[in-house]
Amino acid sequence: MTSLLRGVYDEGAEAARKEGYDMARFRKRPVVPEASRWWKNGDHPDDGSVDVETGGWTFLTEGKVVRRYRHPDVPSGEVCKQCGYIMHEHGWIDTPEGGHTVCPGDWIITGVKGEFYPIKDDIFRERTYANVLD
Ligand SMILES: [Zn+2]
Repeated sequence: MTSLLRGVYDEGAEAARKEGYDMARFRKRPVVPEASRWWKNGDHPDDGSVDVETGGWTFLTEGKVVRRYRHPDVPSGEVCKQCGYIMHEHGWIDTPEGGHTVCPGDWIITGVKGEFYPIKDDIFRERTYANVLD
């Protein structure tokens, strides 16, 4: 039972790796949440980011789901205590509980009402396994 269900998870991850992105559907009762892994601006499938050329430079527009990180009290060059990347490499997401920092490598889960939540990779994997296996 356990190995079969782990196989379901691994197949999704393997398919995502083959296609070059970290996105797959993960089983969780009673709903099947959609989750995608975020590494940089524009990574979320609903971000809608596009390249814009201005004065010889190409810019990727800010994601609609995961926006650019900005905080008046935290310099963009400061190193994150959680992931080790500088804050400039982070994203920002609005959740029903308020704004939240997104570290590179965090998962973005789409809730049943279409709301978005960031979740750390290790916790995401723990919960995915726990919910599938219990
Ligand atoms: Zn971080």
